[in-house]
Amino acid sequence: MSLRLDTHTPSGPLAQKWDKHRFEMKLVNPANKRKHTVIVVGSGLAGGAAAATMSELGYNVKCFCFQDSPRRAHSIAAQGGINAAKNYQNDGDSIYRLFYDTIKGGDFRSREGNVYRLAELSVNIIDQCVAQGVPFAREYGGLLSNRSFGGAQVSRTFYARGQTGQQLLLGAYQALERQIARGGVKMFPRTEMLDLVVIDGKARGIVTRDLVTGAIESHTAEAVVLATGGYGNVYYLSTNAQGSNATAIWRAYKRGAAFANPCFTQIHPTCIPVTGEHQSKLTLMSESLRNDGRVWIPKKAGDKRDPRQIPENERDYFLERKYPAFGNLAPRDIASRAAKEVCDEGLGVGQTGRGVYLDFADAIKRLGRGVIEERYGNLFEMYERITDENPYEVPMRIYPAVHYTMGGLWVDYNLMGTIEGLHVTGEANFSDHGANRLGASALMQGLADGYFIIPGTIGNYLASHKLDTVDASHPAFKAAEGEVAATTERFLSIDGKRTVSSFHRELGKIMWEYCGMSRNEAGLKTALKKIPELRAEFWRDVNVPGSDAELNQALERAGRVADFLELGELMCLDALHRTESCGAHFREESQTPDGEALRDDENFAYVAAWQYAGEGKSPILNKEPLVFENVKLSQRSYK
Ligand SMILES: Cc1cc2nc3c(=O)[nH]c(=O)nc-3n(C[C@H](O)[C@H](O)[C@H](O)COP(=O)(O)OP(=O)(O)OC[C@H]3O[C@@H](n4cnc5c(N)ncnc54)[C@H](O)[C@@H]3O)c2cc1C
Repeated sequence: MSLRLDTHTPSGPLAQKWDKHRFEMKLVNPANKRKHTVIVVGSGLAGGAAAATMSELGYNVKCFCFQDSPRRAHSIAAQGGINAAKNYQNDGDSIYRLFYDTIKGGDFRSREGNVYRLAELSVNIIDQCVAQGVPFAREYGGLLSNRSFGGAQVSRTFYARGQTGQQLLLGAYQALERQIARGGVKMFPRTEMLDLVVIDGKARGIVTRDLVTGAIESHTAEAVVLATGGYGNVYYLSTNAQGSNATAIWRAYKRGAAFANPCFTQIHPTCIPVTGEHQSKLTLMSESLRNDGRVWIPKKAGDKRDPRQIPENERDYFLERKYPAFGNLAPRDIASRAAKEVCDEGLGVGQTGRGVYLDFADAIKRLGRGVIEERYGNLFEMYERITDENPYEVPMRIYPAVHYTMGGLWVDYNLMGTIEGLHVTGEANFSDHGANRLGASALMQGLADGYFIIPGTIGNYLASHKLDTVDASHPAFKAAEGEVAATTERFLSIDGKRTVSSFHRELGKIMWEYCGMSRNEAGLKTALKKIPELRAEFWRDVNVPGSDAELNQALERAGRVADFLELGELMCLDALHRTESCGAHFREESQTPDGEALRDDENFAYVAAWQYAGEGKSPILNKEPLVFENVKLSQRSYK
């Protein structure tokens, strides 16, 4: 049976939807809030903000993360900045412009109502974070400073050097710690959610494993929020933290939550190029660097000269040439494909030929080294430590890499999934970014979800539903605990010959080759043959040493890789069915004469929400039609 995808988007003019909805949503009386328990899985920006805010409102919150401290969530790695339509620069920005840029940047594959709300709330986020003491960069006169990010012609990105995520997370973390100390939040670090428990169609809790002792436990609640981040690590090599994984959302999918647009993966244009098989992680060089850095390649293939010796007229500043209106700040999907294209033509630089230059010589000449150091000092230092090259003197070498997943669990306007009571926030949901996320918009979305949306919509859910009391002795919890224990036992008993990582690496290669920066029918069909074979081999031959009663990272990874081996297949299926190109999803069969993504609005202006149909069965495709009442669908152009 297919799903009914009701978005619950409020009626009325775009700019009034959220206000109207806030007025119409039911409230929980302050004295009653403490009678409700909400589970938040994840303590990154989306989860940390949600847990702290809901506790501040008076709810009992149980918050979980797999790291040893909430402040180690992957959000800490975010570098470049966070967007907000404050128009401090007086350069023509507005809420509507941020909304429009985001809808267009996502290649018209996101919901108008959600995106407009995001743009509206962006303004509140900055105020909230400043009040918390987040040290955003400031102008000489004390006003907050801004820089530009891709896909925008205004400067609206607020930043704290190249450590914006770290500073924002410290803000959310201190708010969370305050609530932990007050007793409103009970924090469970080093605890991994391994199943979602659904009773009478409603999410009523989770089953976890204590990563230090191995204890499997049930936790009940009246609502569950998953804020568990993105799944870019399905590609093995990505800019994500090594621990980032899909397990929480994947297990929720298998309990009935629809998974939307799984194939929409962002490939970031500016990462340190891959050097070889020894790598298990890639490093991002923030998009903010494209404010001042110029991207180029030598005009002559195989030019091995020191880049500083190559004269101007022998260089191709290909982004400036191809996209004069946006230049080096072309959006990520477009800049990535342009880099791949020149490297495919044999013009790439560096030992592998898969690299292009990002050059700061002009900016240093114009602004002086001090200004560049002030803006990007920590990024330059990181680059030098990794490559042993000094980017103040020699151009950086960069190449696209997997960075972010726009797909995720399907949610309605209230951020609730297709299971009642299951809410999903931050990178874990699919909302707002369509087929391509603009830079500095993930932090904005995670914090809008966590600080401003979910605290209200959870209240509406709780006030509108009469929920029976359940406790952990309920048969549904016992059954889920049994399944978790059995899977753990199965991993340990296979006793095969291959490490978990070797399977993960092989899956990553398949995904990158066939479902990466460009995709075609034959390649996707090959991947759909290879992935089930690899999965079968995994369950036959994986080796997970140690026991389940202690800290066992191979065991943790085995569960995550087992889920990636299933999710990878769904991603390829989604990519195969969407025969149009849109945003980061580039189907080679669907391109304009000059090689840009060619959408097919007639047949694909919808969100693909996949529904689990059971082991060994093909998932069911549900479609949420996208309705555009305010923007006109047009071919995206940055020229
Ligand atoms: C290198 C890098 C730089 C970036 N820079 C920017 C930037 O400048 N601007 C921008 O807007 N975006 C940026 N992004 C994207 C942005 O950082 C992320 O999208 C965002 O931080 C995700 O936040 P989140 O709260 O959704 O998830 P995360 O921060 O990934 O947090 C996930 C949380 O869920 C927990 N968790 C996950 N699974 C489980 C489980 N099964 N059980 C228990 N706990 C679980 C984790 O422990 C963690 O607490 C960057 C991304 C990268 C990789």
